[in-house]
Amino acid sequence: MEIISDIAAVRQRMARLRCNKKKIGFVPTMGFLHEGHLSLMRIAKKKSDVLVVSIFVNPSQFAPNEDFNTYPRDLEQDLKLLEDVGCDILFVPTKDLMYPPGYWTWVNVEDMNAKLCGKSRPVFFRGVATIVTKLFNIVQPHISVFGQKDAQQALIIKQMVADLNQDIEIIIGPIVREKDGLAMSSRNAYLSEDERKEALVLHGALQLGRSLIDAGELSKESILNRMRQLIQTKPTAKIDYIEMVDGETLAEIEEPQGLVLLALAMEIGGTRLIDNILIDMRSDKQ
Ligand code: AMP
Repeated sequence: MEIISDIAAVRQRMARLRCNKKKIGFVPTMGFLHEGHLSLMRIAKKKSDVLVVSIFVNPSQFAPNEDFNTYPRDLEQDLKLLEDVGCDILFVPTKDLMYPPGYWTWVNVEDMNAKLCGKSRPVFFRGVATIVTKLFNIVQPHISVFGQKDAQQALIIKQMVADLNQDIEIIIGPIVREKDGLAMSSRNAYLSEDERKEALVLHGALQLGRSLIDAGELSKESILNRMRQLIQTKPTAKIDYIEMVDGETLAEIEEPQGLVLLALAMEIGGTRLIDNILIDMRSDKQ
């Protein structure tokens, strides 16, 4: 695996690969890798000739009161996992390289960036869309894989790529969960043993929502209320949002129909966790 931290060096390497007609697959991450990240890399590897991964904890997607400084980092362990998964090129830029003094340009996917997580994290998606655009411009991949775990992020990236005519195929990989259902996340490392147990309520509430929809419940309010009540039984859980929206556009829906995205965010003992499920009602309609 080649490890490159310089923008010009990556550009040069990528230009050579493109010249040799290699298909480039790219997975951007913030590191502290787990099986969720690795699953995306395996998808990218299958669909390309060269796997490029980036590790960059992107300061512009963290608000001043958020966990940029304490975000978990372990480059040594990440390097081992990347070798095992067969990463060809790792791009690890520094903060100053990506945001030199006098940096002023931002990418905003309007409307979509103000929903769900955007309500309590107003600068988050601006930071994500900007850094992903910058990484796309540097790596210029043919395909890039994102996780369904961050459903809103994945849809915003798809929208951005379409709107800005970025010539990259975006693939969404499924959520990888621990055996007990907790969605894998670098931030799970913050959880104490008790909080880790309480965190199961995220998946539990989503499963409850799905079973209510499967049983024919049509009232969005009752579905979300039942989910909320379940979460409220956990003393350390503080709900940010529980929402039911269109799984392709994030548009409001009044009752379960089409592709339904049930998404939630909460703090468990101060750690912000998100999770979601997609429920496809489209086949029921035929
Ligand atoms: P992050 O390092 O948290 O920025 O995540 C990098 C990529 O990994 C994003 O596309 C995430 O959606 C994806 N990802 C994170 N956790 C999971 C998971 N449990 N399953 C699938 N993809 C994930």
